[in-house]
Amino acid sequence: MPEFRYHPDPVATGSAVPDDVRCSVCGSSRGVRYTGPVYGVGADEPALCLHCIASGEASRALGTAEIPADFTDAAGAPGEVPRAVVEEVTRRTPGFAGWQQERWLYHCADAAAFLGPAGFTELVDHPEALDELRRGFLGSGWPADQTDAFLRALDRDGAATAYLFRCLHCGTHLAYWDTADTPSRTGAARPRAATAAAARAPGPQRDAPREQRGPVRHARR
Ligand SMILES: [Zn+2]
Ligand SMILES: [Zn+2]
Repeated sequence: MPEFRYHPDPVATGSAVPDDVRCSVCGSSRGVRYTGPVYGVGADEPALCLHCIASGEASRALGTAEIPADFTDAAGAPGEVPRAVVEEVTRRTPGFAGWQQERWLYHCADAAAFLGPAGFTELVDHPEALDELRRGFLGSGWPADQTDAFLRALDRDGAATAYLFRCLHCGTHLAYWDTADTPSRTGAARPRAATAAAARAPGPQRDAPREQRGPVRHARR
């Protein structure tokens, strides 16, 4: 299994699963298949081995001559992060499937390591990540009791999920969250709490949908 600085265990995070299928790019059967998103122009539902992601072959094979395919959106990288780091994350690192547009987190002028989807149960072990999420809610005017109720309802396999990262330099745990709910400002058909969350909470669900470059995108897990 190739090593990924920014995604140490893609099988544990669910971004790769055991599979004997032959890789669409190299033709080899490596025993593991990538399950995360691909933003490119190649064949539908490519079966990718992790070696071809690590080498950049998959990104080249599924992109155009000008624009290699991405496995994660490059948006959101702070300016002090070197371009080479962003390219390693987006083109040579397995991505992951979230409910909305996935984004990588950065810290200490570097990309952080993705540890996987997380619920409240997983987050309680990383209070700094939980506190950061809580500050985001409170800072946008959410009442403390509703904030805590929402955070406690986060579930690794549920309809509102956090995504956990760790800074490779200072060790700080980082997280953001998203939900299965379609972003909506009216929220007419949605539960009141979720509507309030989408309308007032900071988070990816308030971002405009990313323009997708290609049709190839895997379903979530
Ligand atoms: Zn391959
Ligand atoms: Zn750091």
